[in-house]
Amino acid sequence: MAEIEGQIVEEQEPLDPQREARRRLALAQIRQYPDAALKMKARPVEQFDDDLRRLVARMKQLMLDAHGVGLAATQVGVLQRLFVFQKDEDDIVALVNPEIVASGGETAIDDEGCLSIQGVLVPVERPTVVTVAGQDEHGGGVRYELEGTAARVVQHENDHLDGVLILDRTTPEARREALAVLRPRIVLT
Ligand SMILES: [Zn+2]
Repeated sequence: MAEIEGQIVEEQEPLDPQREARRRLALAQIRQYPDAALKMKARPVEQFDDDLRRLVARMKQLMLDAHGVGLAATQVGVLQRLFVFQKDEDDIVALVNPEIVASGGETAIDDEGCLSIQGVLVPVERPTVVTVAGQDEHGGGVRYELEGTAARVVQHENDHLDGVLILDRTTPEARREALAVLRPRIVLT
């Protein structure tokens, strides 16, 4: 099971109270379904300034605190085309104005979660290999060839920038089941 954005990674072991408090605080700063920002299309980033780098630093910290492996700007209510993701075990990078320039290999179906749709895992079919190009937070060109979980995460985050969620990518049955979990919560809040 791929735990994209990873919010359930450590549920087997109780977190220490401080980490759990940090996780909850981070999740409270991440827009939750059905927040309107999650359905919006983000605009290209034009200014590579200190504000952008502060946003990237904040998103990396939120992602870590929430125990995620990716976080898109739309998830913090910023409609700009950038996301951060766990590229390798100890390498979190920002990708600004990303474009998936090639995808291939086979497709695979795996369960995905989302930091903006807590408590829901749905199967999503995606290509297993992608090449993504864009810029880093300083405006330099970057290009990554990714496979496996990293390839899946990048496609998930890139979707966020177009207002596309895992609920839009999954099977009709899984979508129905997920909405049944989510709807009572919406009524109560
Ligand atoms: Zn997500």
